[in-house]
Amino acid sequence: PTDLNNLADEYLRLAYHGLRANDKSFNATLVMDFDDKLGLVSVVAQDMGRVLLNLFTNAFYATEEKRKTGLEGYQPTVQVSTKRTEDHFIEIRVRDNGCGIPQAVLNKIYQPFFTTKPTGQGTGLGLSLSYDIVTKGHQGELTVDTEEGKFTEFIIRLPT
Ligand code: ADP
Ligand code: MG
Repeated sequence: PTDLNNLADEYLRLAYHGLRANDKSFNATLVMDFDDKLGLVSVVAQDMGRVLLNLFTNAFYATEEKRKTGLEGYQPTVQVSTKRTEDHFIEIRVRDNGCGIPQAVLNKIYQPFFTTKPTGQGTGLGLSLSYDIVTKGHQGELTVDTEEGKFTEFIIRLPT
């Protein structure tokens, strides 16, 4: 039984401060919108932690990609929300206002070793592993909504 709000909060800070420790110019607004009626959820906490850490790291990276284009007034933002849905699922959403995922890339993101990051910066294993952990490991669903240049939102749905 795991407090997923707490897990998400912890890993979001870990990802954020880890990136800032390496690069002082890195900056982002964190928005957390946690359902206080979420309750404890039966998960393998260490595995869900890895999923969250990967989604958060990807989200921050995407905001950096967009910031580098020099867009005026751009405020990098990563939003995390949790919700107990009416159909008895737990939903965790990770949304960034970064570079988005082009259509041509979208159907490859869950493939092992697929990465668009420069050599040494990405293994391309994060989403593949995350997909397996959520679907095979927890009988859940992992979906994505994105618009190139605007946003990406990953949605984890877990049965309760
Ligand atoms: P890695 O992070 O090592 O590249 P992942 O499996 O985590 O591997 O992600 C695979 C690819 O999916 C990334 O290289 C990137 O092209 C794309 N991607 C994943 N998350 C995002 C995101 N939030 N915004 C834009 N692209 C993303
Ligand atoms: Mg990754």
